[in-house]
Amino acid sequence: MSDIVATNQTILVVGGGISGMTAALEAAEVGKQVIVIEKTPSVGGRVTRLYKYFPKLCFPTCGLEINQRRMAANKNITVLTMAEVTDLQGEAGNYTATVKVSPRYVNANCTACGACGDVVAAEFDDEFNYNMSKHKGAYLPHNMAMPKRYVLDPGIIGTDDAQKAKDACKYDAIDLDMQEETIQLKAGAVIWATGWRPYDANKIQPYGYDRIDNVITSVEFERLMDPFGPTGGKLVRPSDGKEAKNVAFIQCAGSRDINYLKHCSRICCMASLKQSTYVSEKYGDDADVSIYYIDIRAIDRFDNFYQKVQQDKNVTFIKSKVANIVENKANGNPVLNGVDTEGYHRYQNEHDLVVLAIGMEPSVDKDTFPIELKVNDEGFIEFDEVNGGVFAAGCSSDALDVNRAVQSATASALRAIQVVNKVAQAEGQ
Ligand SMILES: Cc1cc2nc3c(=O)[nH]c(=O)nc-3n(C[C@H](O)[C@H](O)[C@H](O)COP(=O)(O)OP(=O)(O)OC[C@H]3O[C@@H](n4cnc5c(N)ncnc54)[C@H](O)[C@@H]3O)c2cc1C
Repeated sequence: MSDIVATNQTILVVGGGISGMTAALEAAEVGKQVIVIEKTPSVGGRVTRLYKYFPKLCFPTCGLEINQRRMAANKNITVLTMAEVTDLQGEAGNYTATVKVSPRYVNANCTACGACGDVVAAEFDDEFNYNMSKHKGAYLPHNMAMPKRYVLDPGIIGTDDAQKAKDACKYDAIDLDMQEETIQLKAGAVIWATGWRPYDANKIQPYGYDRIDNVITSVEFERLMDPFGPTGGKLVRPSDGKEAKNVAFIQCAGSRDINYLKHCSRICCMASLKQSTYVSEKYGDDADVSIYYIDIRAIDRFDNFYQKVQQDKNVTFIKSKVANIVENKANGNPVLNGVDTEGYHRYQNEHDLVVLAIGMEPSVDKDTFPIELKVNDEGFIEFDEVNGGVFAAGCSSDALDVNRAVQSATASALRAIQVVNKVAQAEGQ
């Protein structure tokens, strides 16, 4: 790590999701030196955890793979995974970042052959699948992982499993002596692209996520439908593994509500409309989808997608804010109570599975940024001159879909380039 060259003309990108990747590429492809700091073992962010993208319904490899190739081919980009910025001091044109890098215990010799994973017995909750499955103590983060390199879970270090993994590796890729490192990097500008996290559904007490097995969240539903996900792409219920054909989606679950998230995340309606197509794709005419909504927010080009879903005879739209969910103990079905505001009928509707369309909140808590930044009430970073040479990209600036996140990242790259160009001019280059 000591060989990393960073100067006050370097652009530091914190977060390697689609926004961080985009910002890094935009800056690197005009010749700037960029260092990407990513917390997890691979870049790609939450997009890698989607089954398909709206509105085209293509797989996340579409778009991500080309960016991964551009990054791998660009010598101006250095990526540090399992790394976090713990401190950031300075001002535009002259920052020093302190970066903590956790040990992966696997070096660049790894070919991802999987021999280490085969011999390790211990298993751990797989956060990539929102803990709906386990991964081995030696694992590849996911099938689109970049770098395509295994990781040893710290939980096996010092156990027989760690030695077994090392002995099984014919490429000398496992280094059990790796230690946490702290390094300091200079930078002229910083792009903050740490993205979003799903709102904690446990907080929405009336919807019973914490006590009803067959109430899940929209992010879990994406993993459930993915052929590489916890059920191999089968749409089955968590409680009993029964096929879920009658699925309800609840919009604004914990959003636009003074008790929970005040803001609208803008993408949840589109995510549920998209997910309704997953059910139809799986079960054809046997699919029975209900979408409970306050109003559907699908503007501009997304309106066509909404209209297409409206024409699907297996999808019913119910204009209602669901009051609460209880469980039918006899069959595990969630039962939704509320009032249909088109006609004012009181309903008590039973479904196989309920998906809460939860909102997006910033992944970094308001008061925990390593440098003072102007944030709004929801914790998203604002564009403000008090932030100096730190610019937010993608979902650290707002709840955005991929298209808008990429636009925001491109704008941030341009701002960061302007800062380091001024440094270069001042230094007579
Ligand atoms: C249910 C659901 C479905 C969706 N489906 C679609 C869809 O079909 N189409 C679409 O356009 N959009 C969709 N979206 C939105 C999409 O996920 C976002 O637009 C996209 O993830 C934004 O990318 P990002 O890079 O800004 O953030 P993220 O994807 O969150 O990436 C942030 C990156 O920063 C890293 N990071 C976080 N904190 C730190 C730290 N402290 N230090 C270093 N690194 C850090 C993370 O590990 C991650 O790699 C969906 C959202 C939801 C909730």
